[in-house]
Amino acid sequence: MAADDTELAFETRAIHAGQEPDAQTGAVVPPIYQVSTYAQDGVGGLRAGYEYSRSANPTRDALEACLASLEGGVRGIAFASGLAAEDTLLRALCKPGDHVVIPGDAYGGTYRLFARVLERWGLQWTAVAQQDLDAVRRATRDNTTLLWCETPTNPLLNVADITGLAAIARDVGARLVVDNTFASPYLQQPLALGADMVVHSTTKYLGGHSDVVGGALVTNDAAVAEELAFHHNAMGSVAGPFDSWLVLRGIKTLALRMDRHCDNAERIVAMLRKHDAVKQVLYPDSDEVARKQMTRFGGMVTFSVAGGEQQALDICARTKIFTLAESLGGVESLIEHPGRMTHASVTGSALEVPGDLVRLSVGIEHVDDLLADLRQALAG
Ligand SMILES: *Cc1c(COP(=O)(O)O)cnc(C)c1O
Repeated sequence: MAADDTELAFETRAIHAGQEPDAQTGAVVPPIYQVSTYAQDGVGGLRAGYEYSRSANPTRDALEACLASLEGGVRGIAFASGLAAEDTLLRALCKPGDHVVIPGDAYGGTYRLFARVLERWGLQWTAVAQQDLDAVRRATRDNTTLLWCETPTNPLLNVADITGLAAIARDVGARLVVDNTFASPYLQQPLALGADMVVHSTTKYLGGHSDVVGGALVTNDAAVAEELAFHHNAMGSVAGPFDSWLVLRGIKTLALRMDRHCDNAERIVAMLRKHDAVKQVLYPDSDEVARKQMTRFGGMVTFSVAGGEQQALDICARTKIFTLAESLGGVESLIEHPGRMTHASVTGSALEVPGDLVRLSVGIEHVDDLLADLRQALAG
């Protein structure tokens, strides 16, 4: 099935896009082509277009076609990690001396890539709160070539207006990239809202089972696709065949999983909002922009507790079903303390997060068990 079969529903494309039964064996799902090189019939005589697996691999091709279809792009590209995708994108589309506007509460690894790696390469950047479009516009300069957006953000779940950012990008002659990791293409379609590129950590909801690290880029601009594909091969940051296969398998149940993540998160948010120990619940269900650009609000829930940092740490230590771990987006529920864990590397910077926060990645277990686990952890 071709990646541009847009008349088919999302759920159908998640299972079939890029995945014809194998011509030779009839295998219903793409096999893991665990191979580096391909026999040639005479010099340059490629049998199916494949010569070396850094350049192209059939399992990775299937994943890339599926990703392109789900995000509504002309091309998907699969990487070894989300950060490998980000690094490749930035080196492909920026040059030393360019300027990028990034979210004030960007994913910690993204912030570190700018602050510790690409700044040394000569890339300039400004971090601003992207829910404030005027602040984003003021942060642009003559040399701004990229607006980098994350929505909802991690761990504060701030929402940025993708359509508004796309308009600013057009005005200043920059491109807009949206990190769609938290929403997944099932809940939010950045390219349709005006973004030029989507970046994913497929490690999270797309893979969905906490068993693979991967990344992806999707674009609907053919010229951008060419640049990205060239750098993908030239820089070598590619996804391996087995990792590609795991992500492809995860994607088949993305819609089912996301619906359950959202169902469970909504029930947990309702419980937390009424709980005496909870100061504030961060979940974008009443955000006007989120309601416009997302179909539902995802499985990530952050809350602050009245008892401060020590209570937040205690809650993280007391849950039994919510596993204390970094990462997110898997079928199993996770809990973490952003200040000491995922966001420890930004302590002392503008991206530092409050110590009284707890972040949940709500999984797809039975919601009654999750509610009971949180209640006992909050009771102490
Ligand atoms: C995890 C994550 C990344 C980085 O992806 P890796 O696969 O860990 O390299 C980027 N952005 C967001 C929002 C993430 O959650």
